[in-house]
Amino acid sequence: MNEPVDLVIHGGRIVSPETVIEASIAIRGETIVAVGAPDAMPEAKETFDATGLHILPGAIDVHVHFRDPGYTHKEDFESGTAAAAFGGVTTVFDMPNTIPTVADGETLKAKHAIAASKAHVDYGLYAVLGEDTIDKVPELIEAGIIGFKCYMGNTFGRIPTPSTGAMLEAFEVVAPTGKRISLHAETNSVMERRQKRLTESGRTDPLAHLASRPAVVAVEAVARAAILAEWTGARIHILHISSAAELGPLRDAKARGVDITGETCPHYLMLGEADYARCRGIIRVNPPVRESVNNEPLWAGLLDGTIDMIATDHAPHTPEEKTRADIWSVDCGFPGVETQMPLMLTEVAAGRYDIRDYVRWSAVNPAKVWGLYPKKGAILPGADADFAFVDLDHAWTLRDADLQSRSKISPWDGRKVVGLPRHTMVRGRFVMKDRALVTDTKGHGRSVHAIQQMPEARPLHTDETLSAVIADRPEVAA
Ligand SMILES: [Zn+2]
Repeated sequence: MNEPVDLVIHGGRIVSPETVIEASIAIRGETIVAVGAPDAMPEAKETFDATGLHILPGAIDVHVHFRDPGYTHKEDFESGTAAAAFGGVTTVFDMPNTIPTVADGETLKAKHAIAASKAHVDYGLYAVLGEDTIDKVPELIEAGIIGFKCYMGNTFGRIPTPSTGAMLEAFEVVAPTGKRISLHAETNSVMERRQKRLTESGRTDPLAHLASRPAVVAVEAVARAAILAEWTGARIHILHISSAAELGPLRDAKARGVDITGETCPHYLMLGEADYARCRGIIRVNPPVRESVNNEPLWAGLLDGTIDMIATDHAPHTPEEKTRADIWSVDCGFPGVETQMPLMLTEVAAGRYDIRDYVRWSAVNPAKVWGLYPKKGAILPGADADFAFVDLDHAWTLRDADLQSRSKISPWDGRKVVGLPRHTMVRGRFVMKDRALVTDTKGHGRSVHAIQQMPEARPLHTDETLSAVIADRPEVAA
């Protein structure tokens, strides 16, 4: 006689990329043990009625900035993961531009301790791959990362941009480890010259920010990164794809067999140049929200698989930091982890795509790309019980004041949406229930690096310099 399971969820409609099916889910501890007909479920200590709700694999947002440690007046792991919970997001990957920059093992261990004590949802931590951090690759992997972040363009935290030479060497060193390198693909030298000219001409208006970073900045960076990845075999991921023009080099690289993936964010799909007048500095983000002529090609890129997933670049700042008159002094980014799902589900309600497409972009592909599938991203026996319970018909209005994020300022204030994350479960525990935070789940979140499985990547071209580099760096070869 089997022990009763801990929980059986009845009545929900379970969504996968292939189908939507009404079924029950049995959970023991943190794990799904059965999915099937209600009358075939094992005996349970508790049941939960999800009638009227769709049950999605919890979203995996591979691009957030929770600002902890160093900028906790903007956000910390507690407020950031509370925001995730309200957004139906069960795993986040946090960026390394905190203080100190996550570029060595000791700093990473300290950040792990902070995250473990505060997080409501699961997380992975990125480390910086920069001009002078190549030697740190082994100790960073040892200390537990989800992947590397490489800043080809300037961003908040002023992390220096590596030269192409340093990028090539870094890619050579990371490739055999299998870890994916996520790229802020904007070329700094182009932007610096443009911004200097605009500043000298006296421009301080919001649209000057867009003018300083034309799409070629991103196109050149994506193409260059793809060449280096092709040469070395490194796996790469293009963060925040903002323009139609980037789809060309991305598509070409995929066709050549490069292990390259890409994400876009709701603001690149749904906002355009007209929103600068309404939002002013609030909309300032890198890469910039571009001309609305980019919106439809980006949607098409998601639908045809050129873009693999949706992420948010959740980048909180205070109102004071977002409303300065001179656009060059406004901090870049705004919160998004909490609003991505309702914004994207609104397009399901509008008939643009199917809910099955959405879970592919929000959960399944991120899990596969970072080696977490099927432990994450799947509603199957053996998977973690990570769910977003959503009401697809619920019409409501996004309000900055209601955000869980410490940063209550975004371009979405007043936006009408259809689709509400009603409850969120992480490894068998509700972390958000009936739109209320389950406060004692603080510290429930756990790093996912331990379950990551990334096989060794192989270069498409073999290059003698690869062994030469490793010979020069015995600590890496070891
Ligand atoms: Zn970012």
